[in-house]
Amino acid sequence: MKVEILKPKAYCAGVSNAIKLAYKAREENPNKKVYVLGMLVHNNFVVEELKKKDIQVALDINAIPNGEVIIFSAHGHKRELDEIAKQKNLIIYDSVCPKVLNNMKLIEDNVKADHYVIYIGQKGHPEAEACLSLYNKVILYTNNILNNYHIENDDSPLVINQTTLSILDIKSIHEEILRAIPKARIANEICGSTRLRQEAILSLDKDVDLIIVVGDNNSSNTKRLLEVAEASHPEVASLMIADASELDMRICANKNHIVISSGASTPEDIIDAVYNKIVNY
Ligand code: SF4
Repeated sequence: MKVEILKPKAYCAGVSNAIKLAYKAREENPNKKVYVLGMLVHNNFVVEELKKKDIQVALDINAIPNGEVIIFSAHGHKRELDEIAKQKNLIIYDSVCPKVLNNMKLIEDNVKADHYVIYIGQKGHPEAEACLSLYNKVILYTNNILNNYHIENDDSPLVINQTTLSILDIKSIHEEILRAIPKARIANEICGSTRLRQEAILSLDKDVDLIIVVGDNNSSNTKRLLEVAEASHPEVASLMIADASELDMRICANKNHIVISSGASTPEDIIDAVYNKIVNY
């Protein structure tokens, strides 16, 4: 039986930097309470590791006592939270990924140039919420948005997206938008880390007979990996697990070629443990 770990493996640069910043915040403020607003990155094992270093999670900024430390997540945060943090005299560490920041800058430049922005993303995801909070002229793409979009307001809006979407889905959405708004300007902003992971699945050998995706159920880029696997290799069994304990070895029985893919926020030792469980079975 051949077992292979697909690359990229382990943290993307954005996740790695966010974790380093959280530890820096802890170290630089030994006498303060340190909170991450929401999940720093979408992996529960990472969140638990941070808690062990006394870096807590706050689900609401108002739950953080005045004057303590707040860390904003790698996904970005709603604009109004900056003002609230200032009023509460919080010490701010912002771990937003440069790729997300770059999208925000593109949105800002376009709105300042009097354009509308159509944003393709998941309602409720922190990155999408952060980008949508920037300006009223940023509109979330939904199935019926194009019926209600007034082309006379702007016939060449910017079309931009959450960094962790599926390269298969976004292609068809772009085509649909261009049919309705032919002069729309498409900025495909799926980040390199997300794209490369999906491309590795798309180009799998024909003899692969099991795809295992390792990552957290909260992680957008991880869930997209499973979707890409299911859409591109419907004849191959595929599943998503958080860690080795969730892997029922009966599914590996009689398999000849197993591949392990992983999300951008999945710790490397969790991926290695899945690999070792299979090869040592
Ligand atoms: S998945 Fe992409 S956008 Fe998200 S933190 Fe990593 S590099 Fe940044």
